Amino acid sequence: MKKDKILLAHGGGGRFSNDLIEKYFLPILGNPILNKLNDQGVFEINSTRFAFTTDSYVIKPIFFPGGDIGELAVYGTVNDLSMGGARPLYLSLGLIIEEGFPMTDLQKIINSIKKATIQSEVQIITGDTKVVNKGGADGIFINTAGVGIIETSLNISAENLQHGDIVIISGYIADHGIAILSKREGLIFSNPIQSDTAPLNRLVGRILQTGAKIHAMRDPTRGGLASTLNEFAKKSNVGIVIEEERLPIREEVREACDILGLDPLYVANEGKFVTVVDRNDADIVLNAMKEDPLGKTANIIGKVTDSHKGTVIMETKNASTRVVDMPSGEQLPRIC
Ligand code: MG
Repeated sequence: MKKDKILLAHGGGGRFSNDLIEKYFLPILGNPILNKLNDQGVFEINSTRFAFTTDSYVIKPIFFPGGDIGELAVYGTVNDLSMGGARPLYLSLGLIIEEGFPMTDLQKIINSIKKATIQSEVQIITGDTKVVNKGGADGIFINTAGVGIIETSLNISAENLQHGDIVIISGYIADHGIAILSKREGLIFSNPIQSDTAPLNRLVGRILQTGAKIHAMRDPTRGGLASTLNEFAKKSNVGIVIEEERLPIREEVREACDILGLDPLYVANEGKFVTVVDRNDADIVLNAMKEDPLGKTANIIGKVTDSHKGTVIMETKNASTRVVDMPSGEQLPRIC
């Protein structure tokens, strides 16, 4: 493996991405907020806590079943704020456009961005546009940053998992990755699979309102559920056990994964999140989720343990167990 150059896997959200962060970014840029490695940085001004986040979108294709790069760029940032327990307020919008990009496509993307901001009750209050020479980018890249206010007293963070906690997923996994791959590869399934891109702030608001002791939340995007659970286990130095039988997966997604040789645990999601909650509050959180259209297929998928610290184990359908490792190579590049 070449170690002196950036590989696609360094942007994949798995082991290579983590290496890049741990070895190259944190030693130079680290500080107590950044070092938490949450999807958002949380800071305080005059006793009010705020969350701040940024994300770049380089997805190919830019229009895909169930969405497009514009709404993805709004919802991705809204969701990363929501995962810190924040109510998203304001976003920035940065566009890098390749010379020759069709104006009609740009119009479609801007309209989609507008619709997404209405859906998620945020406003874009600043922006920037750069155009690069033909070949200097692939169509359009979008960066959004966002700020939100934290109105809960909970401290929601990947380092807060406790022995005995319950792990809940908000719905079907692997829809987004399979939708993108199907479109990219021209695969046709009898039931076309749509991306699950959606704003999660309303659903998160519901579970915060229950007053439940929520310890961590994260949206398992690049690297899938396997990455998120491994990040939690390592950051909190606990073990996680999940049950294969309890994972909500659409039948057609399962079939597509079989055909493509993919493990749904490693496939990207967009409009889903994992939350880890105090065991006494698991049912309250699950029921609150199920009342929302975006949480109808939520399920308890496992628990936190003090054995096999830093490791995720899955109890499989045939009653054996296996380690669910951090993804190592590149799974699907340019997925978000
Ligand atoms: Mg995220």
